[in-house]
Amino acid sequence: MIMHDFGPHRNDDDRLKALFDLVAEAGVTSQELILTKITDAGISAGDGRLRHVLEKLKSMGDQPIPFENFAAIVRQDLLIINRILRKQLVIPDWPEFCDAIRQVYDHVAGDRSGSNADYIPILKDADPDKWGVAICSIDGQRFSVGDVDVYHSIQSVSKPITYAYALNREGVKFTHEFVGVEPSGRPFNALDLLPDMRPFNPCVNAGAIMVAGVVASGFPDLTAREITQKIMSLWGSLCGDVGEVHFSEETMLSEKATADNNFAIAYLLQGRKGLPRNVELHKMIELYLSCCSIEMTAEMLSVAAATLANGGVCPLTGEQVLPTELVKKTLAVMQFAGMYDNAGSFTLEVGLPAKSGVAGAVMVIIPNLMGFATFSPRLDGFGNSVRGVAFCRELVNRFTFHVYDSLSGSRSGCKLDPRESQNNRRQRDLTDLRWALSQGDRYAMKVYELVLSSMMEVCLANGEAEAAEVSVIADTLENLMGMRPPISSLERELINHQSGLSKRAGWDTLDALERRLSSEKANLDDNSRELILESAFRVACADGEVQGQEYELLGRIADALGIYRGVLDIDINRFRKRLSG
Ligand code: GLU
Repeated sequence: MIMHDFGPHRNDDDRLKALFDLVAEAGVTSQELILTKITDAGISAGDGRLRHVLEKLKSMGDQPIPFENFAAIVRQDLLIINRILRKQLVIPDWPEFCDAIRQVYDHVAGDRSGSNADYIPILKDADPDKWGVAICSIDGQRFSVGDVDVYHSIQSVSKPITYAYALNREGVKFTHEFVGVEPSGRPFNALDLLPDMRPFNPCVNAGAIMVAGVVASGFPDLTAREITQKIMSLWGSLCGDVGEVHFSEETMLSEKATADNNFAIAYLLQGRKGLPRNVELHKMIELYLSCCSIEMTAEMLSVAAATLANGGVCPLTGEQVLPTELVKKTLAVMQFAGMYDNAGSFTLEVGLPAKSGVAGAVMVIIPNLMGFATFSPRLDGFGNSVRGVAFCRELVNRFTFHVYDSLSGSRSGCKLDPRESQNNRRQRDLTDLRWALSQGDRYAMKVYELVLSSMMEVCLANGEAEAAEVSVIADTLENLMGMRPPISSLERELINHQSGLSKRAGWDTLDALERRLSSEKANLDDNSRELILESAFRVACADGEVQGQEYELLGRIADALGIYRGVLDIDINRFRKRLSG
């Protein structure tokens, strides 16, 4: 844990006024001024996170909005509005960044080399000149240029997501009993296996067909098409439902008619390793080809890429679509095997996890920053979109996005870094949280309740509340609320809590608290999760020793919040050293 510095409070209303001044002209603002600021930051007017604010804004019509009304409109969603209006999203200068994207797009547009995939008519006949780039940051800032709303089959871009689906539903162990995670160094559709008879990895055809088998084997009562619907619905959640996920019957028919090589692979898998739970071979192939025939747009794929970049949490909906642990595995596989037989060179030059498909899509993830997708049907000799790869190279020449650009620190030549520094972000968060809390922001209230509940549980861990502990709780609440609650009322609440009498939301028993922490975990940012654990930790330390039960309890809170327990041990040791030295 990095201990938060509880500094002095700033005047809360002044801050709200300062925020108002950012959108006000001559003492009033308007729907239009506020919306312009929001869209300039890269946030679309249809963003679900701003639903409440936008509804209230709409009800104002064209009338001027004075400070009091502005405060009432934004108060309950202050954290997000504050970050938008103050340009504190992960890419603060969004218009400038979008200009650079447009330049790279134009630069690459002139490249007409390569040719469409020609093994099936629908790909052969696709307009080769289509060219689109869509991007989405982990804060849900979006931009696109060119042909980003053309539906095309996702083909091999489906492979890592079907793999993630298998990991999530069938578990890591079972899935990896049937598929390896080694680069193959062989053509993507080769009939080659590892010495233990597993296919090399989930991104070569043999691996993807086996992964389809793993998934299909878990649904004995569903048809391949019904299982495809489930995978399509995963895609829908990954892309925040910004568009409808389609299925191309035409692609499917052609794929089936040209699937000899894939059938050969399937028989090889069946003959050598054996199929998962003896799943029927045709059902496995049918599912594999159906996943290739899913249709999406570059715009949709960019949001899915951003969800992966954000550890599985969709930036637009806040939903944890896939567990972060599984996203890490998926990205690792994409990194070494996502770009067909050019994956090694791509990693060397671009250094980002990506996946391409023969219809011309490339989906790229910049972890903790953004995702993007390109669409251009002309392919190079490896089967990767020529312009897609060129765009990636050029982007990484300009920006510090290569995974190892972090090595060079300030020595990355003239490359730019468009992100706000993580340090700035952390320092600012607590101050913002306190302020938002004072205004009744929904998110801040939730964090406050979880902080309070966690402190109460630790305080009562040894059966009774000690004076030193109660006083730490009072200090923390004072730091968060700017007002010190009377000790007597805290003590009363603790007694109520202990006898299970209190019905107030947030004053749960331990089990309920644990459940709540783990279900809220996905909606809490790292700073808030740390704040909750840290507050509980302070209470545990109040009497000069972290005792057994307290330690156990802190461990359970850390687990529920998804914070590694080792972090706690380090802090406890540090605390003991400080006491003894
Ligand atoms: N549908 C193709 C096949 O299985 C693969 C598509 C791709 O590599 O994008 O042969």
